[in-house]
Amino acid sequence: MFLAKRISDLRAFQKQHPGTWGLVPTMGALHEGHLSLVKRARDENNFVAVSVYVNPTQFAGGGDFDKYPRTLERDMDLMKPFQVDLVFAPSNEEMYPPNFQTYVTVEEITKPLEGAMRPGHFRGVATIVTKLFNIVQPDRAYFGQKDAQQVAVIQQMVRDLNLPVEIVVGETMREADGLAMSSRNVYLSAEDRNAAPILYRALCAARDAYLRGERDGASLRPVMREVLEQEPRANVEYVSAADPLTLQELDEIKNGVLLSMAVRFGTTRLIDNLLL
Ligand code: AMP
Repeated sequence: MFLAKRISDLRAFQKQHPGTWGLVPTMGALHEGHLSLVKRARDENNFVAVSVYVNPTQFAGGGDFDKYPRTLERDMDLMKPFQVDLVFAPSNEEMYPPNFQTYVTVEEITKPLEGAMRPGHFRGVATIVTKLFNIVQPDRAYFGQKDAQQVAVIQQMVRDLNLPVEIVVGETMREADGLAMSSRNVYLSAEDRNAAPILYRALCAARDAYLRGERDGASLRPVMREVLEQEPRANVEYVSAADPLTLQELDEIKNGVLLSMAVRFGTTRLIDNLLL
């Protein structure tokens, strides 16, 4: 496993390793969710690159960026069993040198849901993912369904800009009680951690209604909200039943639906979703 902190080192290593490359972009603090993507990349490519970079441009102010867990050594230990070839862990200066001034903006699909709650977030995501694609030039790139809008934004960007990379989406990995794995789960107090599986329970309640034949988004959203409101520790930011491609809220559901939500426990913000 080769650790490249500079783009020039990464390029030199890749030149010596011709073949298909799979890229797993991460912000580190790895868990089973990330590792499921790494495993898939290992299975489908000659070489695997994992980027570990906490991207400042996708964070708003307020300290979340500063306090984001940074655990590179542990992350590399976790990757070892998966025979990752290359770890790219650049500095901020390497990625955003002085006088950096070019950003990628994906328009409509970044406006609702996470985009509405986190202004500028997807501009940062689209920019860093474009940079990583240009730096690593992977054949395939792996993203988690956990971040459903991120997947939709990146797929839109790849289509719109004709980026020569195949986007592979991995299913959401969950704890035994249903809580979606997330690097942010470590911030939850014991009480909040106990309460947090309410997100998945709310999603499952709406899924059950859908499977019983409910096809009205206006009925599914309250199903989720009512479950969440049973938990006094949960502060609901949004619940959504949206078109999986446009992310616009749906009433009549014809071609599938993305159920999603963002819920705060204290200062920790959790998101989850189910694609039906
Ligand atoms: P992050 O480090 O949070 O930026 O996540 C890196 C990648 O891992 C993203 O594509 C995420 O969607 C994905 N990911 C995060 N959590 C999970 C999970 N629980 N299951 C599957 N993939 C995940």
